[in-house]
Amino acid sequence: MRRSAFFLPTMKDTPKEAEIVSHRLMLRAGMIRQSSAGVYSWLPLGYRVLRKIEDIVREEQDRAGCQEMLMPTIQSADLWVKSGRYDDYGPEMLRIRDRHDRDMLYGPTNEELITDIFAHSVRSYRELPKLLYHIQWKFRDEVRPRFGVMRGREFLMKDAYSFDTDSEAAKESYNRFFVAYLRTFARMGLKAIPMEADTGPIGGNLSHEFIILADTGESQVFCDRNFVDYDVLGTDVDTGDPKQVGEVVDYFTRLYARTDEKHDPGAFEQDVPAERRYEGRGIEVGHIFYFGTKYSEPLGAFYTTRDGEEAPVHMGSYGIGVSRLVGGIIEASHDDNGIIWPASVAPFDLGLINLQVDNEECTRTCEDAYSRLQQAGMDVLYDDRDERAGAKFADMDLIGLPWQLTIGPRGLKSGLVELKNRATGERQELSLDSALAQLT
Ligand code: ATP
Ligand code: MG
Ligand code: MG
Ligand code: MG
Repeated sequence: MRRSAFFLPTMKDTPKEAEIVSHRLMLRAGMIRQSSAGVYSWLPLGYRVLRKIEDIVREEQDRAGCQEMLMPTIQSADLWVKSGRYDDYGPEMLRIRDRHDRDMLYGPTNEELITDIFAHSVRSYRELPKLLYHIQWKFRDEVRPRFGVMRGREFLMKDAYSFDTDSEAAKESYNRFFVAYLRTFARMGLKAIPMEADTGPIGGNLSHEFIILADTGESQVFCDRNFVDYDVLGTDVDTGDPKQVGEVVDYFTRLYARTDEKHDPGAFEQDVPAERRYEGRGIEVGHIFYFGTKYSEPLGAFYTTRDGEEAPVHMGSYGIGVSRLVGGIIEASHDDNGIIWPASVAPFDLGLINLQVDNEECTRTCEDAYSRLQQAGMDVLYDDRDERAGAKFADMDLIGLPWQLTIGPRGLKSGLVELKNRATGERQELSLDSALAQLT
């Protein structure tokens, strides 16, 4: 992509309304624009990151044996009346009336709808288990939308639902998602710690929140710092083998880690030596629940058992804050100059900077590098604008692409270009050929 053609409205000044660094950087880097309180448009750069995150989430859901579908954003109120949550959800639910005076709502979550679909489609134990997910916009009329996409009103969520014959089988499904979540966040360069959590309005009895430790987080958490050193991606696991999956879950739940509703100060002090106690804030990026028959009973999701009896299906639900993750990753990875994207979610792999567009040799070399990098499958943002070098460097640092390749007439005199690693700041002067060899 040529920077001269790309819609990337970066800003030099820090927007006043943004209280935390990720919000400031997302606005400055031209990733989002607010449309109304807690509702955002995603500009091309931001949307690229959102899609990368979505892709990782999708790959790991698929790997866990979960099947993608798509449910609507607008739901009818009827099912929510049946489940009892139409009143329980309160003012966080955005309620809508259609022209026939029917009560509708913008879905804050989808347990009711998926349970209803299941109830009308599955009859027998032979069809179980089933794991289904979708990635869809949700609306929650949050009391205090803030921190940009971290607490939006409209936000993108991956929500999955499991259907099993009994609680034992349901626990196996739960464990599968648990491991999928560990992998998902680790692939984004995040240390997300699974913490014992309260189930809240979703209901049920077994639940973990996946939390990134950060002072700007809105959850109060308590955990053993040793969790931060746990190696997730190095943990080899066959997701189809419940025993192996269970062992990983046991390993990742041995140390103390709880959200404030579940916190037990006595146990915390007894189990965790003082120097390893983390007591602070965290960002909830995922949440998994097992809630048994809470929805299947009122919504009539029954199946026929092996013995020919009718039994309610056992369910769990599993959320990931896809749009919140964009902010969460920036909170975890930035410096004074801007964002530092982990390669897996970066909007482009590399920024190519032409230091002097009116210099023929410089531009020819840049064009050559641009096409060779693209041929090698790299996604390149080529800054071909007639701008000051300082402004180009500042912009490139701000948007945080993993690599910067700078080509200018001075270096070219000795046949050299500069390659900079955004995360480490390390710069190398080398020939274009060696730079390309290193990158591709
Ligand atoms: P929170 O405690 O932050 O209000 P929640 O517990 O209400 O979140 P869940 O119902 O567990 O949220 O939804 C699943 C995931 O959706 C959360 O773990 C979070 O990552 C994301 N999420 C929830 N509310 C928002 C929001 N207002 N903006 C962005 N993401 C959100
Ligand atoms: Mg909430
Ligand atoms: Mg919560
Ligand atoms: Mg939650």
